[in-house]
Amino acid sequence: MDQVRGRFAPSPTGEMHLGNAWTALLAWLQVRRRGGVMVLRIEDLDPDRSRPIFTAKLLDDMRWLGLDWDEGPDVGGPYGPYRQDERRDRYEAAVAKLTAAGLVYPCYCSRAELHSAASAPHAGEHEFVYPGTCRHLSDDRAEALRQAGRRPALRLRVPDMSISFIDGVHGTVTQKLAVACGDFIIRRSDGVHAYQLAVVVDDGAMGITHVLRGDDLLASTPRQLLLYHLLGLTAPAFTHVPLLYGMDGHRLSKRQKDLSLAALRARGVSPRAIVGYLAWKACLLPEYRPASPAELIAAFDEKALPAGPIFVSDDLADFLLRESKDE
Ligand code: GLU
Repeated sequence: MDQVRGRFAPSPTGEMHLGNAWTALLAWLQVRRRGGVMVLRIEDLDPDRSRPIFTAKLLDDMRWLGLDWDEGPDVGGPYGPYRQDERRDRYEAAVAKLTAAGLVYPCYCSRAELHSAASAPHAGEHEFVYPGTCRHLSDDRAEALRQAGRRPALRLRVPDMSISFIDGVHGTVTQKLAVACGDFIIRRSDGVHAYQLAVVVDDGAMGITHVLRGDDLLASTPRQLLLYHLLGLTAPAFTHVPLLYGMDGHRLSKRQKDLSLAALRARGVSPRAIVGYLAWKACLLPEYRPASPAELIAAFDEKALPAGPIFVSDDLADFLLRESKDE
């Protein structure tokens, strides 16, 4: 069998938090369990939201947790560059290919949605179904809009069919793109390429065979499978793991500052306490105990991963601190 290649692909838009550590750990374990190659790719596509300082912190937090990578922005590798900001020519080549196939049209609708296209859509964020307004725009009308200084976004025409795949956690997933999202953006009106396009171009070009990520991206996968097909790329196997939620029912996010790795580190929490906790929540340990990622490789079992949301208690930081002291 070919070499297994997996990746962790964070966006450097804030401090790494427990939820990022969770997906990073599980993606790493999936690859290491199979003796594969781990790729770290920085998804700094959106110039408005990405900051180099967060990339530096992210690399540092990952190493502190005990996660390593074989290819990445700092160590290089045969499929580089490993920062999306340096790969924009590749996304443009994909746009040209799709355009030449007659699958792309300019869209002059100005909506907030156009601006969020560079980021991966996350749970709780409303997905917009494009009604196809610009699909049949007359040449005259398009010309008038151009003359008026309007710059179009580019949309991909989605076929009227269902797309199915088998997910490692969720089993068979089927979606009709026309109903779920409609024709979707592949390049914003300011020229920034969309997450959906960039992630496929990169995972395809980097020979990624296994993608493990948060299940907020489960609904994006059919869009990505369509792009794999249209661009003639081989799609990886997908595993979408549940997200971590606070007891208030909200997804843990970069906003929960006390659960950022930086804050936990600063309080004296050990990486083993964090990794052991996450592994226990992933059902890789029968009960809580501190552990390093390397100690968990043999225990990693995709079939054991829970499908439902993971709740973390409000006093988690205190618990982890106590456990760090007892070690
Ligand atoms: N960069 C995306 C994010 O941080 C993840 C993309 C992916 O794993 O496909 O949300």
